[in-house]
Amino acid sequence: MTSAWLLLAVGDARQHGGNDGYEDNPREYYRWDSTVPNHARLAVGDVVALWDKRELIGVSAIDTIETGTEDKTRYFCPHCRKADFKRRVRMTPACRCNQCEATFDTPGQRVEPVTTYLARYGRRWVDGRGLLGGPQLRALCDSPGSQLSMRTTSWEKLLDALLATGRLNADAVSGLANQRHRRTPIVGGHRFAKVRTRVGQAAFRAALLDEQGEQCAISGPAPAEVLEAAHLYSYAETGEHHDFGGLLLRRDLHTLFDKGRIAVDPETGLLDTDPGLNAYPVYAELHGKPLVFDVRPEHRLWLAAHWNTHRADA
Ligand SMILES: [Zn+2]
Repeated sequence: MTSAWLLLAVGDARQHGGNDGYEDNPREYYRWDSTVPNHARLAVGDVVALWDKRELIGVSAIDTIETGTEDKTRYFCPHCRKADFKRRVRMTPACRCNQCEATFDTPGQRVEPVTTYLARYGRRWVDGRGLLGGPQLRALCDSPGSQLSMRTTSWEKLLDALLATGRLNADAVSGLANQRHRRTPIVGGHRFAKVRTRVGQAAFRAALLDEQGEQCAISGPAPAEVLEAAHLYSYAETGEHHDFGGLLLRRDLHTLFDKGRIAVDPETGLLDTDPGLNAYPVYAELHGKPLVFDVRPEHRLWLAAHWNTHRADA
């Protein structure tokens, strides 16, 4: 089964009391940030289906995901401090908390840094207006009762439903999930949940082996006995966001990576070995090579933090 994403693409409907909403051009790109459930799970190559609650807008596959950081104003109930409240158009006070039921005119607000994401998928866009209605799309989701703006579904089920309409060229859509960037499907997110919590080193390593296989991210396939879990997130002060916070590295490369003698250039995504390693061919030859592992946007952020720690004045 290939994971696909049902993405809600109406600005107003994605707006709620706790944030100011997003701008979309649903045929080209989709923006979200780390305040949204599932935010770190989308990957290049994933199939996306955009909808507006009434119907399908279209389907495509993600070509690129750009990440950044941004200060975001977050609003919360001044009584219980939860972000879950509604703004009311015709009633005063203007806001009502869904959690503690308090009513108030002015929500509390604070500014905090968030990770921003921009996925582009315009290249393979296929229009889907008039093909599938909202209830059909909800029923195709892994959790049909979900209220999330980014929901998981199965590409096989979605494709079947699209082809059953008889109004779509099979060639136009069936190839969406079969391209070069296809990655290991994420099953229910349980593996990553293990990584996310601060588990012991052994469990962290086991989760990475499960996620990345018997493979050193720098040098390629290697037996599990020589693979260690490198904690990327120790290089970034990103609070509790530890999703995709590690890479498997061969023991010697892990040591050199931790000492900053090997780093990944955030501009190019290529390995950079310090000149002191030039005398050792086995390490020097890594210089300028890409990582073996298909890194996610979060890995890239952490690799950049590692780079800044060790190469800031290079
Ligand atoms: Zn409240």
